[in-house]
Amino acid sequence: MSILNFIKYLIKPRYKKEYKPFIVKDTKTILREENLKIELFCEETIDYCHNLKNYAGPCSRQHGHTGLLQIWIKGDICFLDKSGILFDFNNIKEIKKELCHYNINKIFDEKFGGASPSAENMALYVYNKLKKNSTKNYLEFKVRFYENAVLKKCYAELGDLKL
Ligand SMILES: [Zn+2]
Repeated sequence: MSILNFIKYLIKPRYKKEYKPFIVKDTKTILREENLKIELFCEETIDYCHNLKNYAGPCSRQHGHTGLLQIWIKGDICFLDKSGILFDFNNIKEIKKELCHYNINKIFDEKFGGASPSAENMALYVYNKLKKNSTKNYLEFKVRFYENAVLKKCYAELGDLKL
């Protein structure tokens, strides 16, 4: 969306005909709705190895995980592009490619000065990537990261999206 279109969005009436959703037949009804939101959800498994730094326990030794990454995206329906897309799920597949089957310590050593690759920092890494890669700074994200995709006993979660 161009800056001009974004400014137009801020000035009421907010909904323009070019943003009408394809799924709604009676567009006159939906176009009068204020603050109609769409929420998206996506999850991916991530196979990786790591070892926690500054940690006295078995996780200080290198070991592997099949983690589960869950992401919620929320935005105003008027920001659907001409393809009817609010957020391209391929962005999440790109993040998976960066992390899957890698030693996360090496990535964090190179990019974050050796930060410990805990579940919390993994979630933060993904959240920052989503914010940085998204040209739509009005989208809200929530990231949940499980270290174990099967047991799902514990997770790290952060974001600006309230469910
Ligand atoms: Zn671990």
